[in-house]
Amino acid sequence: MPQVLCIGECMVELSEHSDGTLTRSYGGDTLNTALYLARLGVPTSYVTALGDDPFSTAMLESWHSEGLGTALIPRLPNRLPGLYLIRTDPAGERSFHYWRTAAPARELFDNPDPTLEDALIQAHTIYLSGITLSLYAPPARARLLALLAQARAQGTRIAFDTNYRPRTWPSPTQAQDAFTQALQTTDLAFASTDDHALLHGPATPGAIQAQLAAHGIPEIVLKLGPAVRVVHAGHHTDIPAHPVPGIVDTTAAGDSFAAAYLAARLEGHTPTQAAQAGHRLAAAVIQHRGAIIPRTAMPATEAP
Ligand code: ADP
Repeated sequence: MPQVLCIGECMVELSEHSDGTLTRSYGGDTLNTALYLARLGVPTSYVTALGDDPFSTAMLESWHSEGLGTALIPRLPNRLPGLYLIRTDPAGERSFHYWRTAAPARELFDNPDPTLEDALIQAHTIYLSGITLSLYAPPARARLLALLAQARAQGTRIAFDTNYRPRTWPSPTQAQDAFTQALQTTDLAFASTDDHALLHGPATPGAIQAQLAAHGIPEIVLKLGPAVRVVHAGHHTDIPAHPVPGIVDTTAAGDSFAAAYLAARLEGHTPTQAAQAGHRLAAAVIQHRGAIIPRTAMPATEAP
């Protein structure tokens, strides 16, 4: 099975309860995808930077125990990973508060290690998201985008998820520019009508599809709420999700969908079968609390 590298940031996550107590865990969009890829048997490594603190150690130990590769993760002395707090108001609406500007992950492409550059160029597939792009200062982001283009020219496939969080960008224009550049080196795009509306304003699925296709992207998965539209080889097919009886928490729905889709494609399944595999895993994830469900709750991995 080919090797996948996922690039991004994992943060310490604190969830505030109604009595003010906090529960700690760890979270990040590309990390969720990386962990699910590893669980699905895809050799996967995470690409980020951490500190030399106990929280970074705990992250590395848990990833290692899930079979996720950690060899490309430098640990910066006297540094701490980013942190965010989730607060839930009495109506159940969640808000996110971040302390992440000094996180080591943001410096990964300031002076990238030649070993990391080589690994990116030799990977079968690189997976990153719009949140990944938001981590880096413009010169470092330009370095990453140039590395992606170089890797792609040498045969690496680039999978890009258009996850967009407006607050993590200095301006929408910077985000639009960075997304455009990333989409120009993308082989497989995971996009959504929601992200598109936030970044460019509302548009019909057909218009978004046309805009993405204009970048020359060979395979597009456009999330339309629970259903997805797969665009491949000049055709598009809409694949509805099965109704889920009790949705408990939609955290990591899209991240897990992307992992199962990518894993199925790497196993040689069709885009339609891959979307069905994505729906199956996402359905299990949204029926559990938290981003990473217990191993025992993973759907059976029979052929889609
Ligand atoms: P995100 O907002 O995390 O990107 P999406 O809303 O795009 O997540 O959903 C990703 C996937 O999760 C969907 O393609 C589907 O498989 C599953 N999903 C999400 N919401 C529902 C729902 N209400 N019913 C069934 N499946 C859902």
